[in-house]
Amino acid sequence: RAKEADEPYALYSPELERLLLEEDFLKRALLEGLKKGEFFLSYQPIVTLQKKQVIGAEALVRWQHPELGPIAPAKFIPLAERTGLIEPLGDYVLSQALKEFGPLAREKGLELALNFSPRQFCKRDLSLRIEKALTEANFPPEKLFLEITESTAMEDPALTLKILEDLRSLGLKVALDDFGMGYSSLRYLVEFAVDRIKVDQFFVSALPLDSKALHVIRTILELARSVGARGLAEGIERADQVEILLKLGCEEGQGYFFGRPVRIEDFGRFL
Ligand code: C2E
Ligand code: CA
Ligand code: CA
Ligand code: CA
Repeated sequence: RAKEADEPYALYSPELERLLLEEDFLKRALLEGLKKGEFFLSYQPIVTLQKKQVIGAEALVRWQHPELGPIAPAKFIPLAERTGLIEPLGDYVLSQALKEFGPLAREKGLELALNFSPRQFCKRDLSLRIEKALTEANFPPEKLFLEITESTAMEDPALTLKILEDLRSLGLKVALDDFGMGYSSLRYLVEFAVDRIKVDQFFVSALPLDSKALHVIRTILELARSVGARGLAEGIERADQVEILLKLGCEEGQGYFFGRPVRIEDFGRFL
C-alpha cells in the first residue's frame, strides 16, 4: 500500500462517503440547474391582520429538478451557502424578483421581501449590486425589504452595520427574520435600525394553547414597537391564531391561512 495519502476518503465510513458524494452531486446539479433555468420564484402574500389587506409578498426560491423533482430550500440553501453557490443563486433571485414583482410594486404599491443568508449579506459591494439591480428593473427602493436573520447580524457586526447604513441610504427596508430562534442578539436591535421583526412560526404554531409561547410573542411585539419596527407573525395557519395575534397588537401576518406561495402569474388571486 504505497499511496495512503491519496486516499483521504478511506477514513470515512461508507455512509459518510455516500453523503459526501451526494453533496458533491447536489452541488454540481445546482450549478447545472442555474444554467438550465430549473429555479423559479414563489410569492407568499403578506397581509395586515386588522383589515386582511395584502400589502406585499415574500419571494421564496424553488428548485424543480428534471429527475429528482422538487428539492426543498431547507436542503439546497445551506448547501449553496457552504459551497459559495449562494452568490449566483442570490443574483438570480434578486434580478428575477425585481423584474417579476416590479409592476406590482410600481402600480399597486406592494412591498417585496427577499431573503439574504449570511454569506450573501456580508459582502462589501452588496449595496452597489442591489442599487444596480434596482435601477435595471426600475424598482422603487422603498418597496424592497431585505430579510436577514439574527445570525447574519452576528457574523460581523461592524460590517453588518456599515452595509445596513448603505442599504438604508438607498431607501431600502430591513426585516429581522425568524426572530427568537437565533442567537440572543438583542443588542443589535439597539445598534441597527430595523423596519420589521418577523416572529418565527415556531411560536405562532404553538398558539392558541401554549401560554408561554403567547408571552414570548407579546414580548417580541412590544420590543418591535419600542424600536419603531412593524411586528409580523409568520406561519399563521388558523383563524384562532389570527384572533390572538390581533389581541396582542400584531400588525402583519403571513402563512397558509392567508395564502401559500404561488408563481407570480397567480399572485393576482390575492389582490
Ligand atoms: P423563511 O424565510 O423563514 O420562509 C418561510 C418558510 O415558511 C417558507 O418555506 C414558507 O413556504 C414556509 N411557510 C409559509 N407559511 C407557512 C405556514 O403557514 N405553515 C408552514 N408550516 N410553513 C409556512 P420555504 O419556502 O421552504 O423556505 C425555507 C427557508 O429557505 C426560508 O425560511 C429561507 O430561510 C430559505 N429561503 C427561501 N428562499 C430563499 C432565497 O431566495 N434566498 C435565501 N437566502 N434563502 C431562501
Ligand atoms: Ca424569510
Ligand atoms: Ca422566517
Ligand atoms: Ca425559517
